[in-house]
Amino acid sequence: MEDCIFCKIVKGEIPSYKIYEDEKIFAFMDIQPINPGHILIIPKKHAKLIAELEDEIVGEIFKVAKKINIALRKSGIKSEGINFFLADGKAAGQEVLHVHLHIVPRYKNDGFGFKFPPNYENKPSKDELEKIAKKIRSAF
Ligand code: AMP
Ligand code: ZN
Repeated sequence: MEDCIFCKIVKGEIPSYKIYEDEKIFAFMDIQPINPGHILIIPKKHAKLIAELEDEIVGEIFKVAKKINIALRKSGIKSEGINFFLADGKAAGQEVLHVHLHIVPRYKNDGFGFKFPPNYENKPSKDELEKIAKKIRSAF
């Protein structure tokens, strides 16, 4: 896609710090890392949302994520744990509208975390959980 910065990175029109590349997948350093070693994995073919990708590509993204996870742990980069994070849609925090999986090295007191909504402590009833599960199941 013409105006997409990640498509431009794949084509080499914008420089990047490449970590991995194969026929379908590209991975590179995030220029504004949460922690050192923050990497983005993208499909080479443009797609905005996960649902637009072929199953095979989704699988390939996670295969590469596993390789990078292992490499990160061996690399000596500080990493007591690793988050995989994917923002699917603007409301979910997606700023670059080309599917990308964040791989973020984590360690104790690194200052990053999720903010939970005020009603998070009020767990839903079993009925409520079942009602929601039913809606989702029926949408498959
Ligand atoms: P998201 O908010 O999930 O859409 O994440 C977009 C990510 O892309 C952010 O973490 C940015 O720092 C990163 N980013 C934006 N432009 C570039 C670029 N040219 N090279 C590498 N990472 C980038
Ligand atoms: Zn793109």
